[in-house]
Amino acid sequence: MIEELKKSVFQANLDLVKHGLVIHTWGNASGRDKTTGLIVIKPSGISYKSMRPDDMVIINPEGKIVEGKNKPSTDAPTHLLLYRNYSSIGGIVHTHSTYATSWAQAGEDIPPLGTTHADHYYGEVPCTRKLNENEVNSEYEINTGKVIIERLGNIDPLAVPSVLVNCHGPFCWGLDAEEAVYNAVALEEIARIAFYTVVLGKKEPVDKFLLDKHFHRKHGKGAYYGQDKPK
Ligand SMILES: [Zn+2]
Repeated sequence: MIEELKKSVFQANLDLVKHGLVIHTWGNASGRDKTTGLIVIKPSGISYKSMRPDDMVIINPEGKIVEGKNKPSTDAPTHLLLYRNYSSIGGIVHTHSTYATSWAQAGEDIPPLGTTHADHYYGEVPCTRKLNENEVNSEYEINTGKVIIERLGNIDPLAVPSVLVNCHGPFCWGLDAEEAVYNAVALEEIARIAFYTVVLGKKEPVDKFLLDKHFHRKHGKGAYYGQDKPK
């Protein structure tokens, strides 16, 4: 099972580059094994060109390396804290994709301005508060996870599967690494559309009944978008 997870996390990291969300080594993806709770994550600072599935690092929920010759991504403590807090998620990605990062640098939530947004996020994509000097200078990556959790509050992480970290960039998640990549791609497009909408002068959110309609026809019990799943 863990070998499959290594392949899928490796592929998720490559997909971030393929979709134009990551250049150089400015991003990372991880996945959690449901059975063991072990986490597979990208190694720190290894070029995507030379990276192989066996370069992925396996860590336990406390961050101790269980298998792998490389150091895990420096953002591993952020990933671990999110996994610890949200049992429903099985994959996390972090990027510095242009439009989502622009909103993060502006320190603004992305408002739900239309149905493209409502199809993926039940409400605004939240932006965290800024970290203070102490939080940056001590346990920075853990504190990054803490402000994400603080900002998400009672929101279901699968209903709003991304948070923008103020002055930094987006963290996105999903049921697995593949879905986390899917959500990162959706976020970047939503951030891009929202940017142009705001430039055109509109900032008011979409009507609540339209937001409800679009989100609930794709997610949850009453969903009817797409093909019926085989019973
Ligand atoms: Zn970053």
